Amino acid sequence: MPTFAPSHHCTQIPPDCVPVKVNKMNASNVIIESELSSKTINFNHDTHGEKTFFKHEATTKGTMHQIVSMKEAGTAMAASDGSVKHGIGSASWIITGNANLTSEYQGSHGVPPSHAPMTSHRAELYGIDEKKRPLTWPEKLNCRMDKKAKQMREYICTTPHYEYSTIHLQHQWTLLMHGKIVSQDIGTAIKNHHYLKIMSDHLINNKMYHPMALQLIHWDAIEKATLELPHFRQIWATKFVSGFCGVAEKMNERQQWESNLCPLCQVNSENAMHVVKCKDHRAIQKYEKLLQQLHAWLDAQMTHPDIIITIITTLSATNISSFTTNLPPLSDKHCHTAAQHQDLIGQENMFKGHIAESWKDAQFHHLKFRGEEHCTSKSVTWAKNLVLRLYNFSFEMWDHRNQIVHTKIEDQLNKIQSETLKRQIQEVYLNEASELKENDKILLEEGLQKTLEKTVREKRAWLASVDSSKQYKLHSQTNMYTNMRRSMQQWLTS
Ligand SMILES: [Zn+2]
Repeated sequence: MPTFAPSHHCTQIPPDCVPVKVNKMNASNVIIESELSSKTINFNHDTHGEKTFFKHEATTKGTMHQIVSMKEAGTAMAASDGSVKHGIGSASWIITGNANLTSEYQGSHGVPPSHAPMTSHRAELYGIDEKKRPLTWPEKLNCRMDKKAKQMREYICTTPHYEYSTIHLQHQWTLLMHGKIVSQDIGTAIKNHHYLKIMSDHLINNKMYHPMALQLIHWDAIEKATLELPHFRQIWATKFVSGFCGVAEKMNERQQWESNLCPLCQVNSENAMHVVKCKDHRAIQKYEKLLQQLHAWLDAQMTHPDIIITIITTLSATNISSFTTNLPPLSDKHCHTAAQHQDLIGQENMFKGHIAESWKDAQFHHLKFRGEEHCTSKSVTWAKNLVLRLYNFSFEMWDHRNQIVHTKIEDQLNKIQSETLKRQIQEVYLNEASELKENDKILLEEGLQKTLEKTVREKRAWLASVDSSKQYKLHSQTNMYTNMRRSMQQWLTS
């Protein structure tokens, strides 16, 4: 197996390089602990298996310099793949740049057997068909590593005393994110790490959230609450929270409405939050009713009385008010913290379900003080349900607004339709009476005025009767002519 002969291409390593000891505890950054003099390198004392690992293939093609500068420029690409058969596993990896670059650093090694069964992860090859489309560069690298890992596995199988490296064993590595060890569900942890940054940038820069607010919002409660919503309400909540529901501002932007003014108050431009805070008397009435319901719900949930007073008083204020100023004077420190946090998050954002996590803590201490059992789970459920109540509050305001808007549109439609119906009826009385079947002339006996006083529905039914009578007469005439023509033909040809 010449491919796997031990070969460090040391001649290609820059001459000013020195051996170092690497702190492997931080996987995202290679931290150099100390430089090693050649005397301190003792390959006989190979505790972490580095000797074995590097002996079995870490080879370079091209120059190491190129690979290091690619890594620094962020253009380096890494691919790896594994191979498993009969309980023996191997892995191959490569670090290189784009397809035109000749430099690469690659290696293969055996996967040490452990108590866990050897499994193969070949999902990445699923759907790749070389005949259908040319492979992308990362796919090509992946296929190369797939072949190479297979060769390595075969090599291990045919080498009786293959020495496994312990460098990849789990206890040698730690994955840290924001200084916290990630030990499970790594995929989700990486996704959250990535998207939280994008989301927080968006909320701070576009939605003007206080930078501190994002850490204070009770995201867990929001996630739990959202999962309990029916699908159509989940879609609605996403649209409402992101401001993309069909409010006047959006309808105007999409050129479906002529104005961006709120259809209820006709004073402010209407965005999602305005739907909740609209000062139209109908909207205020609805808002007050929903606030009473929220109050009753908080009472029924054994909520800390100071939380109830603070939230209800703040949300009842006609203008934007602060939670801190509405705290009862002798409130405990937990309520103080929660009120401060909610002020940072924002009063209006509460209607998006963005509540401070510290409300849950205040509720927890209240339940504990009362000597309740299962205070932790009860306060978690309380917070989740509070988010659901707030979503419901916003949805009810939205639904109420829609009922008014739709009734208005319906009225307008009826007016246009009524005009059309009126013209059609007049036309029947003035010009079409002779087109009706003799028996149906009874339809006209009521007179024009009475017919015009009918409801839209009745007028439509009346016109439908007139129409079918006209059609009948027309067809019977056509039938009569057809029959006459046929008789004449028969007479001529007989
Ligand atoms: Zn309004």
